[in-house]
Amino acid sequence: MKNFPMFLRMDGRRVVICGSGEEAARKARLILKTEAEIVVVGRDLDPELAGLVASGRARGVDEAEAATFDGAALCFIATGDAAEDARLRGMARAAGAVVNVVDRPELCDAFTPSIVDRDPVVVAIGTEGAAPVLGRAIKTEIETMLAPRLGSFVALAGRLRGAVAEAIAPRARRAFWDRAFNGDPFRAHLAGRERAAAEMLKEAIAGGAAPEATGHIALVGAGPGARDLLTLRAVRRLQEADVIFYDRLVDHEVLELARRDADRVYVGKEVGAHAWPQDRIDRLIVAEAAQGRRVVRLKSGDPSVFGRATEELEAARAAGIEVEIVPGITAASAAAAAIGRPLTERGETDTFVISTGMCKPGDASPDRQLMARPGTSMAFYMAVEKAAELQADLLSAGAPAECPVEIVASAETARQRHASATLATMAECIEREGLASPAILFVRYPKSMAAARATRAA
Ligand code: SAH
Repeated sequence: MKNFPMFLRMDGRRVVICGSGEEAARKARLILKTEAEIVVVGRDLDPELAGLVASGRARGVDEAEAATFDGAALCFIATGDAAEDARLRGMARAAGAVVNVVDRPELCDAFTPSIVDRDPVVVAIGTEGAAPVLGRAIKTEIETMLAPRLGSFVALAGRLRGAVAEAIAPRARRAFWDRAFNGDPFRAHLAGRERAAAEMLKEAIAGGAAPEATGHIALVGAGPGARDLLTLRAVRRLQEADVIFYDRLVDHEVLELARRDADRVYVGKEVGAHAWPQDRIDRLIVAEAAQGRRVVRLKSGDPSVFGRATEELEAARAAGIEVEIVPGITAASAAAAAIGRPLTERGETDTFVISTGMCKPGDASPDRQLMARPGTSMAFYMAVEKAAELQADLLSAGAPAECPVEIVASAETARQRHASATLATMAECIEREGLASPAILFVRYPKSMAAARATRAA
């Protein structure tokens, strides 16, 4: 570590910013978040800097003199003139300030990190100048992980710290804060119910115990596999979870986003072997939530598409347990995106059908007469093994043999495969290419194809 990160006290300190352009304004923007006194040195100030001076938040000085730097904690220099930068740096250092000269690392005592600001929580990221682009990418990742309201909750916790110390015995304090940050109060605050959050904390303080834990079940969409195709809400639920029940199609990349100490329960096996019976899953998730735990039922894609969500919703509701659905990117969306194709095309396909090749044992196949209509874009789930039957059904329902077909297996995973065919060659193509589950079969019957047929017939 060539540079050592520290948080500087800024209240009552002076920060001198030398320069009148955008670079100087950028530094001013950072320092504005603090309580430091700001002095801007330069003529012809950029409108933002001029505004700061006009409003009284910063003091403007045309020309620096030794006294300008008196008591300065920090000095940023960005005049755009190398000789002037060096001269000002000498003055600032003589006054004992820590100096940062924009774009001149050899003249810097300190560097400004990328900052994620959830005041009073502040994350600073530095790469010692080796990879600023990476620094910004890391900042983006952290920005997405930390809820915008995190800061105000931490500030609330800070205000209550004294009261907690008085009301809660030292041994129980850790549990109190653990429950506050991992339980209902923080969640309520994040959801915008800030008053409720404060009340929960105050009630707990009055009762001399940790806030109560209420169980909760979230049916969370894990998307097709790639972890950056999860929603931010899904990531948050994974990080709040006490226990996660996950399916065979859920990628390990995704599970890594879960809280380290959450219990993980695998409830599905590869095709052919036995999965857990649904009623056993229903019973277990309800039993866990009934003990006050946060349960995540993680399902591939979107939980409400061929995900047997109904059984789990009903089981939770019957037991009086709060349950929510966190939507995910369903396989059809992911597969279409992976091959760079839209699911619908204006003027060509104005109906989009999601259907399955596999039904409940004993049920008849879906009515394919209804789908084989001009203007229809179809996505078939769980259908690779049933491709021959599907193909025969659609053809006999009147879909043209030349309807374009795309088969996308394991979309958005390292094993992704794609093949193109027509309705006449679909089953044979799957066989030849060795395409296997999980896969989406796209069949398109564009309007123009029906029109061309009609013309030929006439
Ligand atoms: N709830 C899931 C679907 C579960 S049913 C969703 O919304 O995506 C399982 C079927 O989903 C598989 O048989 C396959 O048709 C499809 N599927 C799931 N993941 C897939 C992937 N990564 N690529 C292609 N198809 C996938």
